[in-house]
Amino acid sequence: MRIGIIGTGVAGCVLAEMLAAEPGVQVDAFDLRPAEAVAAAGTGLALAPNALKALRLHLPARHAVVRASSLPWRRWSIATATGDRLCALDLLSLAEEPGARLRWSTLFRLVQAPLAGHSRHGLALESLEEDAIGRLVPILRTPSGAVVRPAAYDLLVADDGRHSRLRAITAGLERPRRPGVALTRLLVPDAEDCPFDDYGQWFNGQRQLLSYRLPEGAALIAGTVPLPEPEAEVAEAARTAELQQQLYAPASAAPCEAVAWMIAALQRHVTRIRWGWMQESPLRRSALGGRVLFLGEAAQVMVPTLGQGTSQAIEDGVVAGAVLRRGGTTEDVAAWRDARVAFVRRFSLEASDTLLPGGDPVAGSIAKGSGAFRERLQRLYTDVPEPADFRG
Ligand SMILES: Cc1cc2nc3c(=O)[nH]c(=O)nc-3n(C[C@H](O)[C@H](O)[C@H](O)COP(=O)(O)OP(=O)(O)OC[C@H]3O[C@@H](n4cnc5c(N)ncnc54)[C@H](O)[C@@H]3O)c2cc1C
Repeated sequence: MRIGIIGTGVAGCVLAEMLAAEPGVQVDAFDLRPAEAVAAAGTGLALAPNALKALRLHLPARHAVVRASSLPWRRWSIATATGDRLCALDLLSLAEEPGARLRWSTLFRLVQAPLAGHSRHGLALESLEEDAIGRLVPILRTPSGAVVRPAAYDLLVADDGRHSRLRAITAGLERPRRPGVALTRLLVPDAEDCPFDDYGQWFNGQRQLLSYRLPEGAALIAGTVPLPEPEAEVAEAARTAELQQQLYAPASAAPCEAVAWMIAALQRHVTRIRWGWMQESPLRRSALGGRVLFLGEAAQVMVPTLGQGTSQAIEDGVVAGAVLRRGGTTEDVAAWRDARVAFVRRFSLEASDTLLPGGDPVAGSIAKGSGAFRERLQRLYTDVPEPADFRG
């Protein structure tokens, strides 16, 4: 069986590693970015315990290098911007192992390493052709405009992200839904004096800062700001250092030490803050009668509240690999994955209550310490199939 992967995102890399030693399976992967572009891209991310469990069970060598290159995510605390504690969760009381905090560029270097020799970079998918026996031939273009037809594939896997070209040309790409929240992300490279360590959220009214330390003296700061309407935007000219102060400094009291540190870092690096929207798009698993399989954000985009975007991409890659190894189909991948993805999407959206326009950050954060929320988190963090589940 010949499998072509379009886009070397995390799901596609994990899938390729799962299939690497499989007799009778040949995998080629293509990405529009040059291989070296990874080193300078991205900010930081937190992988949830379920992603680490999926790697530990199915790709233990990958699990070991991710662990060695990251900091453990053990605690999740929520407070007001003046420092009043609202909720504190110990992840080890809910999961079998901690999550991981690391730079995006580190994760991508680690997951792409096993693809050496199987991946070609600087090739963007443009369109598709079919050969005489119905196999799919991707038409790729180099930066200089040359057209490349690499081979005919029995299965094409879309891992080309939220703007997936493969999904657009085989199934149509729906416009993402925006619930009306602006998102910011900043990698703070000089965070040695950061006064906290693990994953924390701080609310100033409905505006939230989320932050944690990363390896090599760095930290991630993510912000959320409710918008007056779903398609509204914070104008380029308004994205100033003063705005960061207005958004996150409490009006009538001093900010706590953590929030004061984050505001200073945001102001110092204001031009490097990346702005975007909270958004989600519907799940689609396959197209062209099962000859195209969608994974990662090419399959679906979920709101980032529970840190599940990359974690679900890892689960996608692991499960698709386990299914395809035993000769399964795209329908089998859907049977294993889609109910789980639906649960995670719904839970992530419901957990965003504190961030959405009209929500109550104090009551909503306190509720995250309740038994009902903890039960769902436990299911989220542990409900990962084992290799033995795919046999028989
Ligand atoms: C450059 C970059 C930086 C990111 N930084 C962060 C971050 O700091 N923190 C965070 O939480 N998330 C970040 N993300 C998002 C995160 O990687 C994804 O949300 C998550 O990992 C799901 O990944 P995925 O498997 O869907 O593929 P993605 O990670 O989205 O990767 C998609 C891949 O497809 C390639 N591609 C796209 N179109 C084509 C085409 N037409 N032909 C060939 N290849 C194509 C892209 O170059 C990319 O390598 C980043 C994504 C990218 C692409």
